[in-house]
Amino acid sequence: MTTLEYPKIAAGKVRELYAVDDEHLLLVTSDRISACDVVFDTPIPDKGRVLTAMSVFWFSLLSDVLPNHLVSYEDERIPAEVRGRALLVRRLAMLPLEAVARGYLTGTGLADYRACGRVCGVELPPGLTESSRLPEPIFTPATKADRGSHDENIAFSDVVGQLGRERAEEVRDATLAVYRRGAEFAAERGILLADTKLEFGIDREGNLVLADEVLTPDSSRYWPAGGYAPDSPQPSFDKQPLRDWLTSPASGWHRRDRPGSPPLPEDIVAATRARYIESYERITGRSLQDWPA
Ligand code: ATP
Ligand code: MG
Repeated sequence: MTTLEYPKIAAGKVRELYAVDDEHLLLVTSDRISACDVVFDTPIPDKGRVLTAMSVFWFSLLSDVLPNHLVSYEDERIPAEVRGRALLVRRLAMLPLEAVARGYLTGTGLADYRACGRVCGVELPPGLTESSRLPEPIFTPATKADRGSHDENIAFSDVVGQLGRERAEEVRDATLAVYRRGAEFAAERGILLADTKLEFGIDREGNLVLADEVLTPDSSRYWPAGGYAPDSPQPSFDKQPLRDWLTSPASGWHRRDRPGSPPLPEDIVAATRARYIESYERITGRSLQDWPA
């Protein structure tokens, strides 16, 4: 069986989803990378393996917090060509929302706060600035936008309207619990988890199940704790070499003038690959060499 023999049911910027049977899907993570809203044509070798291995690590660590969709990463139904960067998962009815938790203020959270002093309806104290640590982690849900458009922040009351109060509270509490556990674990390893985005589905019995990827560098902002200094944007633990190059004159790219994606130079690819591997090894304490290839 090769991947291509399974019907493809969805393709995002970075991942592809195939139907294995009525109850199972194959979630394949490519080596593609995006930064500053650009998806690059040049792959980052091993990035798909890193994200997959990291999700597996976290699914297991979080399994006492809530159930997840992972069935296997080495099942024979996973074609050899994608082994190591594909997961066999339970097929779920996905909730149409991005469940975001934030412990620090940046990105759209910061923009909303500057506009109205609130994020997703959550009132925050005055005087916060770029990258401020929040008094406590907050749940900031967003719509799941179609490809090409941006997710939009929504209030908890909107989630209640969509899912009913009981399910909405369950999603909020699970999201915050995952964030707290992830942030605590990463902090012990010198890394701040600024925020993270989760996706949930419902299984046949009606249980809330953690799906998609979890606490990966693509779904989360990881910052080196050592250099943390609020009042300015923090460097990204993994994508910073790429971002710095992209926004430097060397890349010849400018956001407004050059919507295309420039090819990545070898040293940027190597530096980015090294950062992804380092983030995996530092957080999990495991070696990527021990992960299936
Ligand atoms: P983006 O490129 O912005 O991440 P995306 O989240 O739509 O877009 P991917 O993450 O690349 O796309 O693709 C994964 C898709 O698979 C998502 O639509 C996600 O909701 C879906 N998905 C993940 N796990 C499951 C599951 N267990 N059952 C059903 N669908 C799932
Ligand atoms: Mg996704």
